[in-house]
Amino acid sequence: TVAFLNGEYLPLSEARISPMDRGFLFGDGIYEVIPTYAGKPVGLKGHLSRLASGLSAIEIDNPYDDAMWTSIVLQLATENAQHIESGNVGVYFHVSRGTDTKRYHAYPTGVTPTVFAFAFEMAAPQSNSRSSAKVYKVALEEDKRWQRCHIKSTSLLGNVMHFQSGVKAGVNETILFNEKGLITEASSCNVFMVKNGIIKTPPLNNELLPGITRHIALESFKRANLNVVEEWFSKESLLDADEVWLTSSSKEVSPVIEIDGHVIGEGAAGEVWERAIRAYHAYKFDA
Ligand code: PLP
Repeated sequence: TVAFLNGEYLPLSEARISPMDRGFLFGDGIYEVIPTYAGKPVGLKGHLSRLASGLSAIEIDNPYDDAMWTSIVLQLATENAQHIESGNVGVYFHVSRGTDTKRYHAYPTGVTPTVFAFAFEMAAPQSNSRSSAKVYKVALEEDKRWQRCHIKSTSLLGNVMHFQSGVKAGVNETILFNEKGLITEASSCNVFMVKNGIIKTPPLNNELLPGITRHIALESFKRANLNVVEEWFSKESLLDADEVWLTSSSKEVSPVIEIDGHVIGEGAAGEVWERAIRAYHAYKFDA
């Protein structure tokens, strides 16, 4: 597949960075994943704006303007179409602070950020119907990450360890709660729940990533007159919910049917979910 490294398109197998890159040594960088379907990106504006705020939060100058970032997304989606025939292409962007001559914690001056991008095959779009939805079983544990989860940092060890607890338990995501017992997000997704027809998701703060899918979902639900609020909820209310969903660029809006072996609602994609995913699909390319 074709990748992008520091201004050049090249085969992914030929891309090389220095071991002195601060992305490698410190996880000192910001990343994004942008979904595209048949060459059309979802939420591109939101992804570029979150990339810009992440870079600004860690004082890296954004190396490119939005037009350049956009052309990288479109070029990688098109150039890799022959390898990724489904047309479901995720584009990964990574900007690290750059390569230094020594390993020293302080931000170095005069280094050039390393910019890397590659394309990969994503899951097919989520189904529109309860009977064929892709559903998830998840684990639940206390969020042990840092207090800057709103920054999409490439330092993902905390997330990786939470995800791995789920894998060990035989599931493929882990939902997290803070020390007050309130749900924050999952190791690689945002979380929604439904109780008595009301859709809830935690409000944004430093404890969770401002997911672009979360944002598009909220907009689309409001447009479809679904009842939705941004409100904290406890792990007890999560387990007692009628429906639980995960949102992310690759999962879109996906039902959770089991949490730590505890069945949610009817143990299948729910009624409200079906209305929600239809609203999401109808709006996602306009977001
Ligand atoms: N939360 C975390 C920790 C994530 O890593 C991700 C995405 O990878 C999300 C939420 C969902 O964000 P988005 O919808 O922008 O993909």
